[in-house]
Amino acid sequence: MSDIRVRFAPSPTGFLHIGGARTALYNWLFARKNGGKLVLRIEDTDTERSTDESSKAIIEGLDWMGIHPDVGPYNQSEYLEEHKARAEQMVQSGVAYRCFCTKEELAAKREEAQGRKDTYMYDGKCASISLDESNKRAQNGEPFVVRLRVNREGKESVSFDDLVFGHIEVALVDIDDFVIVRTNGVPLYNLANVIDDHRDRISHIIRGADGLTNTPKQVLIYEALGWEVPLFAHMALTLDPSKAKISKRRHGEVVAVEFYRKHGFLPWAFCNFLALLGWSAGDDREIYETPEDLIEAFCIERISKSNSIFNYRKGDPKFITDPKALVINGAHLRSMPVESLFPHVKKWLEERDLWNPRWDHEEKEWFLNTVDLIRERYHILEDFTEQGAAYFTDDYPITQKAMKRIQKDPVLEKGFNLLAERYEKLEEFNLETTEQELRALCDDMDIKPGLLINGVRSAVTGQIKGPGLFQILETLGRTSVVRRLRAGSKLVGGENE
Ligand code: GLU
Repeated sequence: MSDIRVRFAPSPTGFLHIGGARTALYNWLFARKNGGKLVLRIEDTDTERSTDESSKAIIEGLDWMGIHPDVGPYNQSEYLEEHKARAEQMVQSGVAYRCFCTKEELAAKREEAQGRKDTYMYDGKCASISLDESNKRAQNGEPFVVRLRVNREGKESVSFDDLVFGHIEVALVDIDDFVIVRTNGVPLYNLANVIDDHRDRISHIIRGADGLTNTPKQVLIYEALGWEVPLFAHMALTLDPSKAKISKRRHGEVVAVEFYRKHGFLPWAFCNFLALLGWSAGDDREIYETPEDLIEAFCIERISKSNSIFNYRKGDPKFITDPKALVINGAHLRSMPVESLFPHVKKWLEERDLWNPRWDHEEKEWFLNTVDLIRERYHILEDFTEQGAAYFTDDYPITQKAMKRIQKDPVLEKGFNLLAERYEKLEEFNLETTEQELRALCDDMDIKPGLLINGVRSAVTGQIKGPGLFQILETLGRTSVVRRLRAGSKLVGGENE
C-alpha cells in the first residue's frame, strides 16, 4: 500500500471557486496516480466567515466533478480541543511562549517602525518571561497570545524544496516570533493546519502559490514539534487576461464551479479544462477522454511555475466563459459514445421538465439518434434545450433570424400549407421522400428550393442552422412536421396582415 496521502483543505467562506477546484483536482489526480488517499478537510475555524452553506457547496461541487475523497469530509473545528492542547504543550515545553504585550503597545511599535520605513517585526519582548511567571500571569487571567519561539540557534534560514518552485529559503531575520494562538485561545491557521496535516499523515501538500508565504512558518512549526515535514508542491495562480487574480468580486459567477454545472458542462470535460489550467503533459494533447487517461499522464513535476490565464472576457456575449472550456466540453460532447452522453442529456432534460419516459425504452433508439445528429454543433448541454429545444418539445423558441426567414416571402404561407398537405399524403415519410416532395412542390410553384428549405428549417426548428433539413424532418416525424408547417404558415401571414 502506498503511503501517499494528500488533502484538499478549503475554508468554507464562499462557493467552490475554479482555483480551489483545480487544487482539489490536482490532489485527486496525484492520489489516484500513486494509489494514495485524498483527505477532504473543511477548515472552518474562522467562525465569522465560515458558513454551512459554503461547506455544502464545496462538497457538492466536488461530488459533481467526480472527486470523491477517501477520508472525510470532516470539519477542522472538531479538533479545536486538540489544537489548544497542543499549543499549551508547546508553551510548557518552551518551543512557544505567551506574549502579554497589549494591542496598544504593539500598535505603537508598529507605528514607530513605519515611521522609520521599516517592516514591523515583533521584538521578542515576552520571549524572556520565565515559564513560572508566564503560567502565573495566565492563571490570573491576563490576556495573551501564543507565539512560536523561532529557533535561531546556529540557523540563519528556513528552507524547503518545493516540487514545483524548487529550493526556497527565507532568512530568519525576516521572520519574527509569529502568533500561533489568538487572545481568544483559538489556534491560527498555520498551527491548526500543521497539526491536522500531521494527524492525517499527509505526505504531499499540493496547494495554491498563495500558500507560499505561510510555508516557511509552517516548516518552523513542524521543526519545533519535531515532526517530519511533508513535501510541498505549490501551484502558480490563475489570472484573467489583464493579469488580475480571478475572484468572485471581479468576475462574478463564472469563477464558481456551480456556473459550469448550471450551464451544462460535462463534469469530466470541466475537469479536463481545469487540469490544463496550469499543467500540461509536455505535448500538445488537450483532450483526455477519460479520468484514467489523465491520471496516467499526470505528474507534479509538470505543474507550471508561471501563472495560468483564465481567458474570460467579461461582457463578451459570444463566450460565456473561457472559449477553451467550451471547446474542450464540445469535443467531449461530440466524441464520447452517445450511450455515455445519454444520462447527462436525460438529467438535463428531466431538470427542465422536458423528459419523456418513452425515450428510456420504446423510443430510446430515436432519442439516441437525435442526440447524435444534433450534438455535432453543440458545446454544452444547454445547447440541447436552447438551440435544440425543437427536438424535445413543441414549445420551442424561434430566433429572430429564423423568424425573418419564415416571413421573408409571402409565398411561403402557401408553400408551408401545400407542403404540409403533400407530406400528409406521403406513403412513407423519410429522408428521400421528404426531399423529393419538397423539390416537386417548388417546381410546381415555380419558387427556388432554397427559399422553402430555409423557411421550413426555420419553422420546424426555430433555428437557421443545424443538420441537413431532410434529416431533421425524418427525425421530427410526420405529425410534428405537418403541425409545425401549419403553425409556420400563420406566422408568415401574421406579418402581412
Ligand atoms: N484553508 C486554507 C485555504 O483555503 C488551506 C490552505 C492549505 O491548503 O494549506 O486557503
